[in-house]
Amino acid sequence: MKRKTKKYPSAPLIGCVRCGESKAETEFYTNRWSRVYASQKQVPLCKDCVQALLEEYTYKYGEEAALFLICAVLDIPYSMERYKQIAETTPQFTFGRYIRQLQMNQFRNQSFAASVTTGDFPDLGQAAKVSVTSERLNRLQKDVSTLREELLDIRAKLAESGNIHKSANDSVLRE
Ligand SMILES: [Zn+2]
Repeated sequence: MKRKTKKYPSAPLIGCVRCGESKAETEFYTNRWSRVYASQKQVPLCKDCVQALLEEYTYKYGEEAALFLICAVLDIPYSMERYKQIAETTPQFTFGRYIRQLQMNQFRNQSFAASVTTGDFPDLGQAAKVSVTSERLNRLQKDVSTLREELLDIRAKLAESGNIHKSANDSVLRE
């Protein structure tokens, strides 16, 4: 890969489109093959924001689908093969490692659009299930706290009317 190591006396800062902060260009991923971010070398989304999005998407849709979405945002190729290799050989998948793997020859001159032609897609059906499960969990947690409030309310009314003794066993109401 051709690497220009031109140094500027004072490197201009780049604004992140997500957090709005201006940061040094080393805080951004370089994408010289993008057809989207064609007028600049860096994708205008800082590394911290990429990591935050990756975590959010992982929580909602699972790690593999999260990587797929981040690749779309950064306009870089998605490679299921690379993902699996990293996930299987390291204790924890890290995006930095994935990026480094992409810099190998086979991905040169490619953007996210290339993933369409390889048919390399994560199991998005599984991603949908993960999403449904976490939504369901949130709903159930709300239901549980609502029920707990209702139970406390009923118990208070019963205690007022003298139908249960105040010291009645209320272990069911403890969290
Ligand atoms: Zn940012």
